[in-house]
Amino acid sequence: MRIKVATHSGFCFGVKRAINIVDSALKNSRYKENIYSLGPIIHNPQVVNSLSKKGIYVIGDIDAIEKGTLIISSHGAPQKIIRKIRRKKMKLIDATCPFVKYAHDIIKRLKGEGYKIVVVGDKDHPEVKALLSTVGNVDLHRRDLKSKKVAIISQTTQNRDNYIKGILDILKTDFNEVRIFNTICNDTTKRQTLTSELLKECDVMVVVGGKNSANTKRLHQICKESKVTSYHIERESELKDRFFSGKKCAGVVSGASTPDDTVKKVVERIKELTKKSNERGVF
Ligand code: SF4
Repeated sequence: MRIKVATHSGFCFGVKRAINIVDSALKNSRYKENIYSLGPIIHNPQVVNSLSKKGIYVIGDIDAIEKGTLIISSHGAPQKIIRKIRRKKMKLIDATCPFVKYAHDIIKRLKGEGYKIVVVGDKDHPEVKALLSTVGNVDLHRRDLKSKKVAIISQTTQNRDNYIKGILDILKTDFNEVRIFNTICNDTTKRQTLTSELLKECDVMVVVGGKNSANTKRLHQICKESKVTSYHIERESELKDRFFSGKKCAGVVSGASTPDDTVKKVVERIKELTKKSNERGVF
């Protein structure tokens, strides 16, 4: 059986940058008090576990801490959290991905120009919550868009087709003017394109990444929308030999917060699982 690994895998630029920022903070004596992150720094439980062993504590509520340092994850943070941290006189380390910051900058500028902002994305995702906090208290119900200047932006890891559907939905409303921004990051577009390409060649797909990772789930969604069998796993131990029974080509793609090393282990495990069958000529 052939194994085809997407030519672009491992950590994306924003995740690599966030991990480097965390590593530098851990070595810096300025941050000798506890270092916290509000929610996981990246959506990969294995990486977050290893960071917690090094001294990065994940908290669910900003009111649980009074001193120390808070790291803002690659997804950014709502404005009210940043204001609270400043009021508490705690230190802040900002690991927000520059592509996410770019989306915030667009929102701030257009809000100042009187546009109603619509963000197409998962409303419960930390990035979208942070973007909406920049939008302010705007009712995004369609009636509110009527006869207004509207600007549409996307969550950076949105699926292109979902974004287009969201735009078309908004275009059905009544408005005076609409501006559309493509804020899906290049890394996301590349991974989605490569997934679609592998789907043409492979008859089973393995998507590697956190079960809580939105961009990984979207890669799996692209697979599920095809006729090709696919599996979303976090690590190699979840692979079963039945996944590859009767298959000729396995495609491996990974989310933006999946380490290279995890992808390598997955590929090695697929080789092991399919070795005997290959020798017997079953595949
Ligand atoms: S997926 Fe894109 S926007 Fe998100 S952290 Fe990576 S590079 Fe930044």
